[in-house]
Amino acid sequence: LDWNGTIIPELKEIVGEENVVNHIIDLYVYSRDASIDTGWPAAVAFANTTDEVSKIVKLANKHGFSIIPRGAGSNVCGGVIPAKGDCLILVLARMNKVVNLDLENFIVTVEPGIVCLDLNTYLAPHGFYFPPDPASDKACTLGGMINNNSGGIRAVKYGVTENWVMGLEVVLSDGTIINIGNKAIKYVCGYDLVSLFVGSEGTLGIVTKAMLKIQPLPEIRLVASGYFNSAFEAGKCVREIIRRGFDPSGTEIMDYKTLKAVEEYSGKVKFPECGAVVLVELDGNKDDVEMRLDRLDLAFKEMGAIETAVARDAKTCEEVWAARKAAFPALTLRRPTARMEDVSVPLENLPVMFQKIDEVSAKNGIEIATFGHAGDGNLHPILLWDERDPDQHRRALQTLVDLWHAAIDLEGTVTGEHGIGVSKLMMMPVEHEAAVLELTKKIKHAFDPNNVLCPGHVIPIPGQRIDILEDVS
Ligand SMILES: Cc1cc2nc3c(=O)[nH]c(=O)nc-3n(C[C@H](O)[C@H](O)[C@H](O)COP(=O)(O)OP(=O)(O)OC[C@H]3O[C@@H](n4cnc5c(N)ncnc54)[C@H](O)[C@@H]3O)c2cc1C
Repeated sequence: LDWNGTIIPELKEIVGEENVVNHIIDLYVYSRDASIDTGWPAAVAFANTTDEVSKIVKLANKHGFSIIPRGAGSNVCGGVIPAKGDCLILVLARMNKVVNLDLENFIVTVEPGIVCLDLNTYLAPHGFYFPPDPASDKACTLGGMINNNSGGIRAVKYGVTENWVMGLEVVLSDGTIINIGNKAIKYVCGYDLVSLFVGSEGTLGIVTKAMLKIQPLPEIRLVASGYFNSAFEAGKCVREIIRRGFDPSGTEIMDYKTLKAVEEYSGKVKFPECGAVVLVELDGNKDDVEMRLDRLDLAFKEMGAIETAVARDAKTCEEVWAARKAAFPALTLRRPTARMEDVSVPLENLPVMFQKIDEVSAKNGIEIATFGHAGDGNLHPILLWDERDPDQHRRALQTLVDLWHAAIDLEGTVTGEHGIGVSKLMMMPVEHEAAVLELTKKIKHAFDPNNVLCPGHVIPIPGQRIDILEDVS
């Protein structure tokens, strides 16, 4: 395609000279996300309005280039990595305004580029918040969260992004702009198209506005920690806490290796000597939370905790969550390559999943540190290696494949919240039967017959390499 002579000048006409880049350094930056996959776009454009997005999609159909919508690029599944050439990265991050705050109905309408934490900072003085809270909330955008159906620490009580999206404005693959959803809390007028777009990883349409439910801030949130001899015991404790009806708003685990990495990274946090910690947040009315917190402390001890701690003030609680949110950055500093996985299993199988992680790590000689949203059965094993060493690299990729199979064998999934992107395509036929894959293809074709949006994501394109072990000898 004639990018320099035709497409770039036409893109500049739509979004302005300063909002299109194709210098090699810019393209290098946009050839990556938070995964370890890479792929080069032909150009990058920054949109400011829905109309611009629609015009760019029409241009893509006219010239035959593809588009990957991008928020902050913090996904970890190669979700904004081009799978083939002639691709435009369309950045929505500058469309970051709050369009409307409807406090009477507990609804906020936003542009897709607003960052999750900025939305919550905006809502807090009004006494509200948006519950889905990925650990990347300082960076990730609502458009990215909607398209990855992101979860977070509070998903155990409040669910994931899909539970909070009431309506969407979407630019379809031919440039048509549609509005779907409704302000009414109960709404069953036809197919639930909003839910179809949520989690579609940019493959079905480009979200340009979102109408979101919001929640009154709880009076108080406090955290209790139980330290256990092993991750297996910590895993058993998580299920028991939920069974006993503590109704936690966060239930996280960090294993020994993660705790050590966080200690080194922060330079001031010191955890008791243990195999793993369970962090449990309770929220609600002050008296009720304090009473449940005391009971929780006792329950930890009954379940074999070697030590417990209760954070009874907001500052200490913030420190606890800051330590948890530092887990991935802290681990990335330990080795040249770090890959964050997100296997998810039924709660009963959570303790066994920890054992399986140890087994695949020992079998392949690849270090794995694990933390995660254990109350949802969703773990983040972090594989650490040096990809410049071919032997280590081969063993690390084998570890990944073994890990994915272990989760499926335990009636779980290879991805609880990160998605498929280009990183996990090879597991789609393992996790889904052929008829389901066929239906998925038909849905994509109905929404995007020319494969303009994110080709090679979720559904492979002809000739695409999907087996990650294929050319690793
Ligand atoms: C340190 C760290 C911690 C993380 N913690 C969590 C966590 O706790 N829970 C969790 O679920 N995830 C987590 N993630 C993953 C990631 O942050 C989330 O998936 C996040 O929601 C992605 O948002 P983004 O703005 O970065 O989207 P991007 O990475 O830019 O895009 C993600 C996907 O959405 C599509 N997309 C983006 N915007 C639009 C739009 N407007 N219209 C259509 N498609 C669009 C893209 O094409 C892509 O498929 C973490 C990542 C890191 C690096």
